Amino acid sequence: MPLKLSSLVTEINRIGSSKAKYLDKLGITHIRDLLYTFPRRYDDFSCITPIGKLKAGETRTVRGRVKQCNSKWGFSGKRRLLRIFVDIEDESGVLAVTWFNLRFLPQQLWQGRELFVAGKVEDTDKQKDFTNSKQQKGGKPLSPCFRMRSPVMEFISTNDDQTHTARITPVYAETYGVSSRFLRYNVKNMLPLIMAIPEYLPSDIRKRNKLLGIHQAIKASHFPDTSSQLKKAQRRLKFDELFFLQLSALVRRRQQEQRKAIAVPLNKGKQKKITSQLPFTLTKAQQTAIDEVLQDMQKSTPMNRLLQGDVGSGKSAVALIPAFLALKAGHTVIYLAPTEVLARQQAESFGKFLGKKNVALLIGAMTEKEKKEIKNRLSSKEALCVVGTHALLQADVFVKKCALVIVDEQHRFGVKQRHALQTIATQKEVPHLLSMTATPIPRTLNLTVYGDLDISVLNEMPPGRMPIKTNIVLPKDRDSAVLHIIEELHRGKQAYAIAPLVEKSDKLEVKSAKETAEEMQKLFPDVAVGLLHGKMSSEEKGQAIRNFNAGALQLLVATAIVEVGIDVPNATIMIIEGAERFGLAQLHQFRGRIGRGEHQSYCYLFPTNDSGINNQRLKTLVDTTDGFKIAEEDLKLRGPGELYGVDQSGFGNLKVASLLDYDMIKLARSEAEKLLKKDPKLNKHSVLRRKVEQKNLHTHFE
Ligand code: ADP
Ligand code: MG
Repeated sequence: MPLKLSSLVTEINRIGSSKAKYLDKLGITHIRDLLYTFPRRYDDFSCITPIGKLKAGETRTVRGRVKQCNSKWGFSGKRRLLRIFVDIEDESGVLAVTWFNLRFLPQQLWQGRELFVAGKVEDTDKQKDFTNSKQQKGGKPLSPCFRMRSPVMEFISTNDDQTHTARITPVYAETYGVSSRFLRYNVKNMLPLIMAIPEYLPSDIRKRNKLLGIHQAIKASHFPDTSSQLKKAQRRLKFDELFFLQLSALVRRRQQEQRKAIAVPLNKGKQKKITSQLPFTLTKAQQTAIDEVLQDMQKSTPMNRLLQGDVGSGKSAVALIPAFLALKAGHTVIYLAPTEVLARQQAESFGKFLGKKNVALLIGAMTEKEKKEIKNRLSSKEALCVVGTHALLQADVFVKKCALVIVDEQHRFGVKQRHALQTIATQKEVPHLLSMTATPIPRTLNLTVYGDLDISVLNEMPPGRMPIKTNIVLPKDRDSAVLHIIEELHRGKQAYAIAPLVEKSDKLEVKSAKETAEEMQKLFPDVAVGLLHGKMSSEEKGQAIRNFNAGALQLLVATAIVEVGIDVPNATIMIIEGAERFGLAQLHQFRGRIGRGEHQSYCYLFPTNDSGINNQRLKTLVDTTDGFKIAEEDLKLRGPGELYGVDQSGFGNLKVASLLDYDMIKLARSEAEKLLKKDPKLNKHSVLRRKVEQKNLHTHFE
């Protein structure tokens, strides 16, 4: 049977089941996968150079003949090692080459046989191994002046088309049992099969953006003729990858828009009234975000908006106004908070503005009877604002007329929980959804991972906040920092200290929360020190947080769980032990715990050892307090991780494109938008449609 793209790799000559197992590790099961496994990098072996013209340090290909070949068994430590010494000559000189352990090589290197070798050119003079090349009579080829160690070798191909040398050579991700050489050989043999791939990109998109055809792009990204051709090939493949994902995101969004929501009419009068009750003037950013939300909500298509703003940027006030308008229009509003502490705080503050009787709390810590009462109210006709935790997501919660769902710190909730939210309303309309996050998201991710959402950004802080001063303190400078901390504590200010671990670890030199608490108590004997970590019961945790909030504890030593849910304006010190062990975004979140009042706040980063001073992440934190800048930097340094929800989005599996490539992302998005405008169901682009359907199982172009 002739091979097809859909054939298993085992159908290729000389690939058996054991090889197939190794290939499977690289995600290659079918021939299609083989051809879509693109090189990680390339060795530029395209420059064929006469031996006499070589220079040490260059990477070159040499075409020559075997002059002589010797091999010798020896030892490397305890292991037996075969050393192969070959002299290769051309008209201009002799090149010494060594290989190791290639047992079957010497018998193929008979004198006079022509071959290519490609690799880095080195001087021979320091090398004693090359005793086999003696000066010849007649003067011509002398002893070698250059050598190559373990170069790539290839015999002359009959059709003058080399695979491994004399070209820009692809280097693939390798695994045990699968070498780049093996992949190159097989990819090249199978390449003609790509002709079966239809050109799925519309020609106007290709022309407009000067994109190579798909066949040329695949071929050249494996075996490019020139580096400029390689660039073009990669550009096409990157575009494709992002373009499909953008199409799926936009299709998802379109489906969302086809559902109905309860329109909440604008009411300038009421909006003004509630705004005037706030104890402050809204920032410009808050005002804009509120307008964007209200514009969305007055439509009968569901809002799906993500509000991003640093800790303290005032997201709650933005949520308050639409909640008020929805409530006044006779609908129920659900506010989902990540912790019970936050839920309580939020319910209390909403109660002030929306009226105590209109706001209810629903959290796990309440009695069954209390919960039941709230559930009954939710399933009645009453318009209500319910603030709660996961307890709201129980299967027995039904909301009669839910116009708006607000999710605070949305990244704290998993996919399942967000799914549970969708079924909470019993009416036929879907609720408008306002998600909020204190994790500033880099702009490239807004256009990809969050590509099916609308985004509002709070990029300014309420006035009067003093920027937090951040210092990296090396172990030797600890004392002076401690002195300053004592001063602040004596002034009645409160402090946090974060440690990476709960308990002492024998393996890691970093400090644990428990050790830190002991140390702090010794340093500050007259200060009440408390502890907060994930291994405590929720009862104990609640107690610690309440005590700190009330000022009964002055210094709170915690693990990363302090990130959310504590709001103490009197806390002005943040100490972070083992700071280099935390991600940038997380450090930024910790720092967000302080600087909430009108006092100057200080953040001390204590790296575990002196090399911390060179830590780029820590430096970034000293240089800026702008969460969006920090997020961009974080993305560059660490790549997109779980943190940004990338894994669930499909954008995490990009093979050729990069989530950092803003220009390409924008291009792919605008082309996807244009195409869907012309052909919303992709009826005229059936191959593209199938591709999108594969990417997104939930997509059915009805
Ligand atoms: P976030 O949820 O974004 O972290 P909050 O909504 O909790 O921030 O607001 C943080 C603090 O700032 C609160 O004490 C709030 O009352 C106050 N605040 C919010 N907006 C403003 C504003 N425009 N001017 C002054 N203070 C504000
Ligand atoms: Mg908040």
